[in-house]
Amino acid sequence: MRLDPLLDSRLLKTRDSYIKILRAMGLMRVSDLLTYFPRAHRAENEFLKIAELPADQVVTVEGRLRGVVHLTSKKGMRMTRGILEDETGILELVFFNQPFLKQRLFKGMELVVTGKVKDNFGKKSMASPRFEPKSSVMLHTGRLVPVYRETEGMNSAWLRQKIHFLLPFADHMEDSLPETVRGEEGLMPFAEAIRQIHYPDSEELLGQARERLAFDELFQLQLKSIQKRKEQKKRAPDEFFQVEFGGLEPFLQALPFQLTGAQERAIAEIQTDLDSGDLMSRLVQGDVGSGKTAVAASAIYRMGVCRLQSAILAPTEILARQHYLTLMRLLQPLGLSIELLLGSTPASQKDEIKVRLAAGMTDLVVGTHALLEENVQFHRLGLAVIDEQHRFGVLQREALAQKGTPHLLSLSATPIPRTMALLLYGDQDLTILDEMPAGRKPVITRIVPELKRRDAYFWIADQVDKGRQAFVICPLITESEVIEVKAATEEFERLSKEIFPTLKLALLHGKMKSSEKEEIMAAFKANEISILVSTSVVEVGIDVPNATIMLIEGADRFGLSQLHQFRGRVGRGDEQSYCFLFTDADTAVSMERLHAMEKINDGFELSELDLKLRGPGEVFGLRQSGVPDLKIASYMDLDLLKRARAAAERTLA
Ligand code: ADP
Ligand code: MG
Repeated sequence: MRLDPLLDSRLLKTRDSYIKILRAMGLMRVSDLLTYFPRAHRAENEFLKIAELPADQVVTVEGRLRGVVHLTSKKGMRMTRGILEDETGILELVFFNQPFLKQRLFKGMELVVTGKVKDNFGKKSMASPRFEPKSSVMLHTGRLVPVYRETEGMNSAWLRQKIHFLLPFADHMEDSLPETVRGEEGLMPFAEAIRQIHYPDSEELLGQARERLAFDELFQLQLKSIQKRKEQKKRAPDEFFQVEFGGLEPFLQALPFQLTGAQERAIAEIQTDLDSGDLMSRLVQGDVGSGKTAVAASAIYRMGVCRLQSAILAPTEILARQHYLTLMRLLQPLGLSIELLLGSTPASQKDEIKVRLAAGMTDLVVGTHALLEENVQFHRLGLAVIDEQHRFGVLQREALAQKGTPHLLSLSATPIPRTMALLLYGDQDLTILDEMPAGRKPVITRIVPELKRRDAYFWIADQVDKGRQAFVICPLITESEVIEVKAATEEFERLSKEIFPTLKLALLHGKMKSSEKEEIMAAFKANEISILVSTSVVEVGIDVPNATIMLIEGADRFGLSQLHQFRGRVGRGDEQSYCFLFTDADTAVSMERLHAMEKINDGFELSELDLKLRGPGEVFGLRQSGVPDLKIASYMDLDLLKRARAAAERTLA
């Protein structure tokens, strides 16, 4: 039975103003308040004897009030003094300006008090302690005391009282976890968990309650994503199997390099997907430079052989062009015909490309958002590849998928912690490329103190003399892109005029026309520009092996994964590359984060660390969203997530 009344002033025995605040907090029904979980508990469940009270620590004591006096000074200052005693000694309690204590503290009452002890030559006292009359139901002290997120006009004490009053309703709330799962996982019953999460009888029971409720939350999220994957996991159309596939041998033979072990595993997983008869939905995550393009190319090759078409969606024209060139090199010699379709492609050319696509003359089209237009049609779309998938919304991905019933392959260079990958992309199968092509020299990363800024510039000039190139990334400014562009423009002017007057510099930012950006990138790639100054928004995801220096201003403002992605823009050639981090933040936490950049070269490790130090919202950087807020579960809890996911899978099986 479900009993979940609306919260109103009669039910809660409170004023309407409180009900209003609850509504504003999104708390409408009894169940909402009962699942308004404490953000912490104060451990006041250990009682000490007065004789053994340590000085200058917050402690909890119980005793009897031997006497109490209420005083008013000449200046009108009110003071209440009480003497608390137990069988070992006495403790003085002092309160200032709390006239209502006259109605609450009486001689002879049994009290529990919590506060900091002062010891004045053996005379112990406590100023302004929290106290509560001793009874069988302690709410505010003398136990594990729940502490809630407070808002204006609503404090923990009020919430404690009202939530406690509502606890009997827990028995009537709906338990969304199937009883079989609860049994298999050895989890606490729901109503008990609700009681214990607010008013735990022990640390251990609190832990169990938290585990149970976090499990619920993760279980529901995983149910949804597995269900979604099931819906997507349709049988591939029969026509996908009209031409038999003879294997990847020719493709592998033609590769100009030896695959890494991780690439081999990823390629094998994809082939298994394609053999299964179901449509593939897979996310390949791997650091910048881990070689995702070759992995995607193996699937595209297979499509081509089977007379099915492929499309690659890239977030920028620069990236699309780069993919186009790479894939031309890899796949054209194997007989695939490849097209590039961009927003900036001239209309007449666009039309021709569309005609060839619709007629099935093109095996692979690489493009940007231009691919998503309605009049782009395929003869038989077999595979949709989404590069840098987090840069696209669900609707955009679906717009491409709807041009047929294709296999889906997403690529992401933003290594995110596994828990986040499961929570965000749980509807896809996951492959992780955790290995770099052999012979890559790790980028040497250094935090550069302001004092050494000049030296760094001299050093860069010297490297440019030797033919190298550098990126300068300007600080992330969250308020507005306009301000960010202005700041980058100023930095560009400063560097061009004052620091490197004889070198060729260029500026790149998000407000430029894409043709302008293209031109600059092309010039940088051709080494006609030595130093490229860029805002953080601009995708510098291009392959310029000759660029060996990455200088990042305001480095503390970026997430570690993001810094790592910037850093991945260098270190692509044979020369040793360098990443310089400038920062004006000097807090211990930001320095710890930046020092991690010096030590750690693995993107996944860095993203885990970011999660730990800054929380889930920051892992992608401030501009990305879509990270679900967890109410009680934690993004750190991979084991519980795995259990919840497995249980959700069993439930849906
Ligand atoms: P990303 O994963 O960032 O998309 P790319 O696919 O662009 O990486 O590959 C980065 C560079 O590494 C490219 O120049 C590519 O040709 C090269 N590459 C990819 N795989 C290997 C490999 N196994 N051995 C050597 N070089 C490789
Ligand atoms: Mg790539």
